Amino acid sequence: MKVYISADLEGVCGVVHRDQTGEEGKDYEKVRRWMTAEVNSAIEGALAAGARKILVNDSHGDMRNILPDELHPKALLISGSLKPLSMMEGISREFDCVFFVGYHAAMGTRSAILDHSYYGQVVSEVKVNGRMVGEVGLNALVAGAFGVPVTLVTGDRGAVVQARGLLGPIETVAVKEATTRYAARSIHPSEAHRLIRDAASRAVALSARIKPFRLKPPFRLTMRFINSGMADGAAILPRTKRLDGTTTEYVAKDPIEMFQAMQVWVTLGASTIPIRR
Ligand SMILES: [Zn+2]
Repeated sequence: MKVYISADLEGVCGVVHRDQTGEEGKDYEKVRRWMTAEVNSAIEGALAAGARKILVNDSHGDMRNILPDELHPKALLISGSLKPLSMMEGISREFDCVFFVGYHAAMGTRSAILDHSYYGQVVSEVKVNGRMVGEVGLNALVAGAFGVPVTLVTGDRGAVVQARGLLGPIETVAVKEATTRYAARSIHPSEAHRLIRDAASRAVALSARIKPFRLKPPFRLTMRFINSGMADGAAILPRTKRLDGTTTEYVAKDPIEMFQAMQVWVTLGASTIPIRR
Protein backbone atom coordinates (compact mmCIF):
# COMPACT_ATOMS: atom_id res chain seq x y z
CA MET A 1 0.00 0.00 0.00
CA LYS A 2 1.54 3.27 -1.15
CA VAL A 3 0.12 6.69 -0.32
CA TYR A 4 0.83 10.03 -2.01
CA ILE A 5 0.12 13.22 -0.01
CA SER A 6 -0.14 16.69 -1.56
CA ALA A 7 -0.02 19.23 1.29
CA ASP A 8 -1.28 22.80 1.05
CA LEU A 9 -1.46 25.39 3.81
CA GLU A 10 -4.58 27.60 3.61
CA GLY A 11 -6.75 24.70 4.76
CA VAL A 12 -4.72 23.97 7.89
CA CYS A 13 -6.56 24.36 11.21
CA GLY A 14 -6.19 27.91 12.57
CA VAL A 15 -5.12 29.56 9.29
CA VAL A 16 -7.35 32.46 8.22
CA HIS A 17 -5.09 35.24 6.96
CA ARG A 18 -2.26 35.89 4.49
CA ASP A 19 -0.03 36.92 7.42
CA GLN A 20 0.11 33.22 8.19
CA THR A 21 0.75 31.83 4.73
CA GLY A 22 4.15 33.13 3.59
CA GLU A 23 7.61 33.96 4.84
CA GLU A 24 6.86 37.70 4.98
CA GLY A 25 3.97 37.05 7.40
CA LYS A 26 4.54 37.34 11.13
CA ASP A 27 2.88 34.04 12.07
CA TYR A 28 4.37 31.97 9.25
CA GLU A 29 6.97 30.03 11.27
CA LYS A 30 4.27 28.84 13.65
CA VAL A 31 2.00 27.80 10.78
CA ARG A 32 4.76 25.69 9.23
CA ARG A 33 4.68 23.57 12.38
CA TRP A 34 0.86 23.33 12.24
CA MET A 35 1.04 22.20 8.60
CA THR A 36 3.72 19.62 9.36
CA ALA A 37 1.67 18.29 12.28
CA GLU A 38 -1.45 17.79 10.13
CA VAL A 39 0.58 15.99 7.48
CA ASN A 40 2.06 13.80 10.24
CA SER A 41 -1.45 12.92 11.42
CA ALA A 42 -2.36 11.77 7.91
CA ILE A 43 0.87 9.73 7.75
CA GLU A 44 0.21 8.11 11.13
CA GLY A 45 -3.32 7.14 10.05
CA ALA A 46 -2.06 5.69 6.76
CA LEU A 47 0.70 3.70 8.48
CA ALA A 48 -1.77 2.35 11.04
CA ALA A 49 -3.93 1.09 8.15
CA GLY A 50 -1.01 -0.73 6.51
CA ALA A 51 0.67 1.82 4.22
CA ARG A 52 4.27 0.91 3.48
CA LYS A 53 5.42 3.87 1.43
CA ILE A 54 4.38 7.49 1.86
CA LEU A 55 5.49 10.35 -0.35
CA VAL A 56 4.67 13.91 0.73
CA ASN A 57 4.75 16.75 -1.81
CA ASP A 58 4.94 20.23 -0.26
CA SER A 59 2.44 22.11 -2.43
CA HIS A 60 2.10 25.63 -1.04
CA GLY A 61 3.70 28.84 -2.33
CA ASP A 62 7.42 28.28 -2.84
CA MET A 63 6.87 24.70 -1.67
CA ARG A 64 9.36 24.90 1.19
CA ASN A 65 6.97 25.01 4.14
CA ILE A 66 7.05 21.57 5.75
CA LEU A 67 9.80 21.25 8.38
CA PRO A 68 11.84 18.21 7.30
CA ASP A 69 13.14 17.46 10.79
CA GLU A 70 9.62 17.48 12.23
CA LEU A 71 8.09 15.33 9.48
CA HIS A 72 7.28 11.69 10.31
CA PRO A 73 10.49 9.69 9.69
CA LYS A 74 8.71 7.07 7.57
CA ALA A 75 7.74 9.61 4.88
CA LEU A 76 9.71 10.87 1.91
CA LEU A 77 9.41 14.61 1.20
CA ILE A 78 9.48 16.56 -2.05
CA SER A 79 10.09 20.23 -1.34
CA GLY A 80 10.99 23.28 -3.40
CA SER A 81 9.94 24.44 -6.84
CA LEU A 82 9.95 24.50 -9.91
CA LYS A 83 8.30 21.12 -10.44
CA PRO A 84 6.78 20.02 -13.76
CA LEU A 85 3.73 18.59 -12.01
CA SER A 86 3.67 21.27 -9.31
CA MET A 87 1.25 20.27 -6.54
CA MET A 88 1.23 16.71 -7.95
CA GLU A 89 4.96 16.25 -8.52
CA GLY A 90 6.03 12.67 -7.83
CA ILE A 91 2.63 11.05 -8.45
CA SER A 92 2.88 7.81 -10.41
CA ARG A 93 1.04 4.59 -11.09
CA GLU A 94 2.75 2.88 -8.15
CA PHE A 95 0.48 4.68 -5.64
CA ASP A 96 -2.80 3.24 -4.35
CA CYS A 97 -4.36 6.49 -3.18
CA VAL A 98 -3.86 10.24 -2.88
CA PHE A 99 -4.55 12.49 0.12
CA PHE A 100 -5.01 16.28 -0.14
CA VAL A 101 -4.17 17.81 3.25
CA GLY A 102 -4.68 21.49 4.17
CA TYR A 103 -6.59 22.23 0.95
CA HIS A 104 -8.88 25.18 0.21
CA ALA A 105 -11.80 25.93 -2.13
CA ALA A 106 -11.63 27.22 -5.73
CA MET A 107 -11.32 30.95 -6.40
CA GLY A 108 -14.75 32.56 -6.20
CA THR A 109 -16.25 30.23 -3.59
CA ARG A 110 -18.36 31.98 -0.98
CA SER A 111 -17.44 31.50 2.70
CA ALA A 112 -14.20 29.67 2.04
CA ILE A 113 -10.92 30.60 3.72
CA LEU A 114 -8.45 32.24 1.31
CA ASP A 115 -10.11 30.63 -1.71
CA HIS A 116 -7.93 30.67 -4.83
CA SER A 117 -6.96 28.53 -7.79
CA TYR A 118 -3.20 28.07 -8.03
CA TYR A 119 -2.32 31.77 -7.98
CA GLY A 120 -4.74 34.19 -6.36
CA GLN A 121 -3.25 37.34 -7.89
CA VAL A 122 -3.48 35.92 -11.41
CA VAL A 123 -6.33 33.42 -11.76
CA SER A 124 -9.96 34.45 -11.44
CA GLU A 125 -11.65 31.24 -12.62
CA VAL A 126 -10.70 27.86 -14.10
CA LYS A 127 -13.05 25.54 -15.94
CA VAL A 128 -12.51 22.09 -17.40
CA ASN A 129 -15.11 21.00 -19.95
CA GLY A 130 -17.36 23.82 -18.72
CA ARG A 131 -17.13 22.89 -15.05
CA MET A 132 -15.52 25.21 -12.50
CA VAL A 133 -12.61 23.54 -10.75
CA GLY A 134 -10.01 24.57 -8.20
CA GLU A 135 -6.90 22.83 -7.00
CA VAL A 136 -8.87 19.80 -5.75
CA GLY A 137 -10.35 19.17 -9.20
CA LEU A 138 -7.26 19.94 -11.25
CA ASN A 139 -4.97 17.88 -9.05
CA ALA A 140 -7.46 15.01 -8.83
CA LEU A 141 -7.50 14.90 -12.65
CA VAL A 142 -3.71 14.54 -12.65
CA ALA A 143 -3.95 11.70 -10.11
CA GLY A 144 -6.70 10.17 -12.26
CA ALA A 145 -4.44 10.25 -15.31
CA PHE A 146 -2.12 7.92 -13.38
CA GLY A 147 -5.06 5.75 -12.33
CA VAL A 148 -4.90 6.82 -8.68
CA PRO A 149 -8.02 7.89 -6.72
CA VAL A 150 -8.14 10.73 -4.20
CA THR A 151 -9.58 9.22 -1.03
CA LEU A 152 -9.02 11.95 1.60
CA VAL A 153 -9.36 15.74 1.52
CA THR A 154 -8.84 17.92 4.59
CA GLY A 155 -9.33 21.68 4.79
CA ASP A 156 -12.07 24.18 5.53
CA ARG A 157 -15.73 23.24 5.12
CA GLY A 158 -15.86 24.99 1.71
CA ALA A 159 -13.00 22.87 0.40
CA VAL A 160 -14.37 19.56 1.58
CA VAL A 161 -17.91 20.27 0.32
CA GLN A 162 -16.44 21.07 -3.10
CA ALA A 163 -14.29 17.93 -2.98
CA ARG A 164 -17.24 15.67 -2.23
CA GLY A 165 -19.31 17.32 -4.94
CA LEU A 166 -16.61 16.54 -7.47
CA LEU A 167 -15.09 13.28 -6.23
CA GLY A 168 -18.00 11.53 -4.50
CA PRO A 169 -18.13 9.82 -1.10
CA ILE A 170 -14.47 10.10 -0.15
CA GLU A 171 -13.14 10.72 3.37
CA THR A 172 -13.04 14.39 4.37
CA VAL A 173 -12.15 16.38 7.47
CA ALA A 174 -13.38 19.96 7.88
CA VAL A 175 -11.03 21.57 10.39
CA LYS A 176 -12.74 24.98 10.27
CA GLU A 177 -15.88 26.64 9.01
CA ALA A 178 -15.52 30.00 7.29
CA THR A 179 -17.73 32.96 8.13
CA THR A 180 -16.12 35.04 5.39
CA ARG A 181 -12.99 34.64 3.28
CA TYR A 182 -10.89 35.83 6.24
CA ALA A 183 -12.63 34.48 9.35
CA ALA A 184 -13.47 30.99 10.56
CA ARG A 185 -14.54 28.97 13.53
CA SER A 186 -11.91 26.23 14.02
CA ILE A 187 -11.83 23.06 16.00
CA HIS A 188 -8.81 22.65 18.28
CA PRO A 189 -5.64 21.53 16.45
CA SER A 190 -5.34 18.42 18.62
CA GLU A 191 -8.89 17.46 17.64
CA ALA A 192 -8.04 18.12 13.98
CA HIS A 193 -5.06 15.79 14.32
CA ARG A 194 -7.22 13.01 15.78
CA LEU A 195 -9.85 13.38 13.06
CA ILE A 196 -7.25 13.45 10.27
CA ARG A 197 -5.50 10.37 11.67
CA ASP A 198 -8.74 8.38 11.81
CA ALA A 199 -9.94 9.56 8.39
CA ALA A 200 -6.55 8.71 6.85
CA SER A 201 -6.82 5.14 8.11
CA ARG A 202 -10.29 4.80 6.59
CA ALA A 203 -9.11 6.48 3.39
CA VAL A 204 -6.44 3.81 2.86
CA ALA A 205 -9.14 1.15 3.03
CA LEU A 206 -11.29 3.18 0.61
CA SER A 207 -8.70 3.10 -2.15
CA ALA A 208 -10.04 -0.17 -3.56
CA ARG A 209 -13.57 1.24 -3.84
CA ILE A 210 -13.14 4.83 -5.09
CA LYS A 211 -12.57 5.26 -8.82
CA PRO A 212 -9.86 7.61 -10.10
CA PHE A 213 -11.30 11.01 -11.11
CA ARG A 214 -11.57 11.11 -14.89
CA LEU A 215 -13.44 13.21 -17.44
CA LYS A 216 -14.12 12.43 -21.06
CA PRO A 217 -11.44 13.71 -23.47
CA PRO A 218 -10.74 16.12 -25.01
CA PHE A 219 -9.99 18.39 -22.08
CA ARG A 220 -11.14 21.92 -22.72
CA LEU A 221 -9.43 24.20 -20.24
CA THR A 222 -10.53 27.82 -19.91
CA MET A 223 -8.97 30.35 -17.57
CA ARG A 224 -10.21 33.81 -16.71
CA PHE A 225 -7.41 36.04 -15.57
CA ILE A 226 -7.55 38.97 -13.14
CA ASN A 227 -6.70 41.37 -15.97
CA SER A 228 -6.21 41.31 -19.74
CA GLY A 229 -2.41 41.76 -19.47
CA MET A 230 -2.15 38.37 -17.85
CA ALA A 231 -4.22 36.83 -20.65
CA ASP A 232 -1.90 38.61 -23.14
CA GLY A 233 0.98 36.75 -21.48
CA ALA A 234 -0.79 33.38 -21.41
CA ALA A 235 -1.80 33.68 -25.07
CA ILE A 236 1.89 33.41 -26.05
CA LEU A 237 1.69 29.66 -25.44
CA PRO A 238 1.16 27.96 -28.84
CA ARG A 239 -2.32 26.47 -29.42
CA THR A 240 -3.84 28.86 -26.89
CA LYS A 241 -7.06 30.44 -28.11
CA ARG A 242 -8.07 33.87 -26.84
CA LEU A 243 -11.79 33.86 -26.03
CA ASP A 244 -12.07 37.44 -24.78
CA GLY A 245 -10.04 40.11 -22.99
CA THR A 246 -9.36 38.05 -19.90
CA THR A 247 -10.12 34.47 -20.97
CA THR A 248 -7.97 31.86 -22.72
CA GLU A 249 -8.74 28.34 -23.90
CA TYR A 250 -6.60 25.26 -24.50
CA VAL A 251 -7.88 21.91 -25.74
CA ALA A 252 -5.68 19.04 -24.59
CA LYS A 253 -5.73 15.34 -25.35
CA ASP A 254 -4.99 14.30 -21.78
CA PRO A 255 -5.07 15.78 -18.26
CA ILE A 256 -1.29 16.05 -17.98
CA GLU A 257 -0.97 18.16 -21.13
CA MET A 258 -3.89 20.29 -19.88
CA PHE A 259 -2.32 20.72 -16.45
CA GLN A 260 1.06 21.69 -17.85
CA ALA A 261 -0.55 24.21 -20.25
CA MET A 262 -2.22 25.70 -17.18
CA GLN A 263 1.10 25.93 -15.36
CA VAL A 264 2.66 27.73 -18.31
CA TRP A 265 -0.31 30.14 -18.50
CA VAL A 266 -0.07 30.98 -14.82
CA THR A 267 3.69 31.53 -15.06
CA LEU A 268 3.31 33.76 -18.13
CA GLY A 269 0.41 35.63 -16.53
CA ALA A 270 2.37 36.16 -13.32
CA SER A 271 5.37 37.42 -15.30
CA THR A 272 3.34 40.55 -16.13
CA ILE A 273 3.11 41.64 -12.51
CA PRO A 274 6.10 42.95 -10.57
CA ILE A 275 5.88 40.52 -7.67
CA ARG A 276 7.77 37.41 -6.77
CA ARG A 277 5.85 34.17 -6.94
ZN1 LIG B 1 -3.43 26.27 -2.78
